Amino acid sequence: MEPMFSPPLHRQRHQFVIDFVKRNKSKKVVDLGCSECSLLRKLKFHREVELLVGVDIDGAKVKKRMHDLVPISTDYLQPTYDQLCIELYQGSVTQSDSRLRGFDLVTSIELIEHLTLPDVEYFSEVVFGYMTPVAVIVSTPNSEFNPLLPGLKGFRHTDHKFEWTRAEFQSWALKVSLKYGYEVEFTGVGEAPTGHDERVGFCSQIGVFHQLMGRDGCNILFAGDAIDVFSYTLLYSINYPSLHDNNILRRVLVTEVLYWAENLRRRWIEEKTGERDDCYTQCQAEGGDQCPGSSEQDMEMQEKQTAHGAEMNHLMEHRGRALLEYQAGEGDEEFWTKGKGKQESSTLQRSVSVPLAVLWTSCPKVGALSGSLSNLRRLLMDGPEVKLSQDGSALLVNLQEQDLEEEEEEEEDQNDLEDSGYAGVSQCFHSAEQEEDWETNV
Ligand code: SAH
Repeated sequence: MEPMFSPPLHRQRHQFVIDFVKRNKSKKVVDLGCSECSLLRKLKFHREVELLVGVDIDGAKVKKRMHDLVPISTDYLQPTYDQLCIELYQGSVTQSDSRLRGFDLVTSIELIEHLTLPDVEYFSEVVFGYMTPVAVIVSTPNSEFNPLLPGLKGFRHTDHKFEWTRAEFQSWALKVSLKYGYEVEFTGVGEAPTGHDERVGFCSQIGVFHQLMGRDGCNILFAGDAIDVFSYTLLYSINYPSLHDNNILRRVLVTEVLYWAENLRRRWIEEKTGERDDCYTQCQAEGGDQCPGSSEQDMEMQEKQTAHGAEMNHLMEHRGRALLEYQAGEGDEEFWTKGKGKQESSTLQRSVSVPLAVLWTSCPKVGALSGSLSNLRRLLMDGPEVKLSQDGSALLVNLQEQDLEEEEEEEEDQNDLEDSGYAGVSQCFHSAEQEEDWETNV
């Protein structure tokens, strides 16, 4: 059978909530009757949300897919300043729990019809009278639409205790609003197909409640009522990585600093040895279009490398002559290591010194993450991953064996040049200079 709604009705209900969250920038959201957490899984991608809570009486249902709420690898690799905490509880909406007070939004999607009418009264008292959120979204079947649902006899679900007409739903909603200080608007999702009687209303009817006193009123209510009630069982709780966490900020900053410092070290070696062998340089030398591979992926890669090269050049311009070879001296014990062999026993570890000021001003992300130069120094000093110069003003990047070999080769090349026929040329210059001297000396 053709699906009656496109997108399917359950998705339209969830999309309604997502649009509300985006529009109202709701930070603390609780989904009552969250079942297998499908709405929560969608809401977790909306970074305006900082606290996301799910409650269901059926703990087994919640546990079924709760691990899908774990952060994904990019949340760890590229954390942002956004904060997100997710908590899942097993409990009944007919009982209060003080951990659910003070939320921006409470959602109850296709839940109330699973409660007996006396329990709907408890639900109203708990949600509107105790939790006192800024806004509530309640969706429930509109029984007037049922004749349009092919093959339906009785209620839409065997567990439904009732299905209300629009008048019945509105009567309950208006009574609750009056009693607890809310105003309510009525809408819905799932329109009647064309050709059918469109006067039946939406398939799912929705009431959107707004607290009349707003957030401030909510806080006044809490002030005089400090007794904590914990009637729900916490099943799951997770804090997403955020740059507000100092350890995470440090880790990201150190990774970024090491990345840039390593690039600078390589450039420095290339400058010294006159060699540049990266694809970017090759492409530049070959005029770009001769670069191997012309697939979309290669082009994307080239674009990235070009952008990266431009960034690096910018950095190199900024650094001027700031990058120096650093030979550890006495008192710098922590920054040098002795060679392994007997012959090398007095060789100190040679490093390139990258001033923090250069990194801070030239690498936008390093600047943004640390906020100030002194903060950058403090954050880098806190851990063992990076070596700083004794006065803490520069990062020391070890010269690796191959770098030193390249440098030696460069020196050898210079000697070879002198040993070859070209040496005669230099000899000539030398003689000419001497002649000049002789002239002046005469
Ligand atoms: N809101 C979900 C599922 C609705 S089905 C969605 O949009 O897809 C109704 C859910 O309410 C079920 O998971 C059921 O276990 C839960 N439920 C029923 N009575 C409850 C109660 N008293 N307290 C909390 N959850 C309840």
